[in-house]
Amino acid sequence: MIASNAKIKKLETLESIMIRLQKVVLAKRLKTSKQREYILSLIYKSKTHLSPEEIANALKKDNKDSSLSSVYRILQFLETYGFVTSIEADRSGKRYEIAAKEHHYHIICLGCGSIVEFIDDDIKSKQEQIAKSLKCQVVSDNFRLFVLCDKCINKQRGDDFLRL
Ligand SMILES: [Zn+2]
Ligand SMILES: [Zn+2]
Repeated sequence: MIASNAKIKKLETLESIMIRLQKVVLAKRLKTSKQREYILSLIYKSKTHLSPEEIANALKKDNKDSSLSSVYRILQFLETYGFVTSIEADRSGKRYEIAAKEHHYHIICLGCGSIVEFIDDDIKSKQEQIAKSLKCQVVSDNFRLFVLCDKCINKQRGDDFLRL
């Protein structure tokens, strides 16, 4: 059974994630950074997978003083300490989502870059089966399906039609 977008659960509240962030910041003797907190909550609240550029734009819109390079640095920090995960989407590069999310897979359109999340127990058990047959244990998986979405297929058909 395939469950799409709406059913992917967040496994932790933003509040509890922020407390964890404070603990890491304290342990690493870093300064607290409003920008770091802002980016983490932006990613948490986002319904999509955000690119560094989109995050930088959101900061700008909110009149936060920021640069793309500091966004990159913060994202790297957040990923290193397990607050966010990245997916290599397509030519547009890495996109980020909150790590405390139910395990899921991604379908990525190579035409428009849209990303659909889904859960499929069959894929999971198949992976475990394959690993077991090789006497291994699955540690993590990163299953992505690259597609042309419905919209892009229709657009391509339209373009082909115009070319005739
Ligand atoms: Zn598309
Ligand atoms: Zn996702």
